[in-house]
Amino acid sequence: MSNPLENVVSLIGEERPRIWRYSYSAGPVRSKFLLFLRDRQKILGTRCPACGRVYVPARSTCTKCFENMEEWVDVSNEGTLETYTIVYKSEPNYSADAPFAFGIIKLDGADTGLVHRLGEVDFNKIHIGMRVKAVFEDQLKGDIRDIKYFKPAL
Ligand SMILES: [Zn+2]
Repeated sequence: MSNPLENVVSLIGEERPRIWRYSYSAGPVRSKFLLFLRDRQKILGTRCPACGRVYVPARSTCTKCFENMEEWVDVSNEGTLETYTIVYKSEPNYSADAPFAFGIIKLDGADTGLVHRLGEVDFNKIHIGMRVKAVFEDQLKGDIRDIKYFKPAL
């Protein structure tokens, strides 16, 4: 069997703009998660009855054991930065102009990480293990972007 990449001497990139606007039904679990963000500025997770993992954002099925999850958990708006990247190129569907930072934040009380933007942060001081807390938008819509970003917790 031949390797299809055997004669490739370099890889090329193709640039295409991606702007997709669409609506979908969030479903009962995601809707409750988003309504608590909008109406109470609270971040909810769901706990698996079999393995005990707490998922944030809340979801209906455990990805490890496929159990249905019906127990809601009020997790903290503060957590620990698990990893991060700094984005230097703006894209039309990003909620901020580059440069900005994205991170995976494990909120206190959660077992999974939430991907979100970091703000009010010096790029030279971002580090794994950094404590961060959610900053909410002034106008809340029931969207994950109701969390404006996570900033360093003092
Ligand atoms: Zn589980």
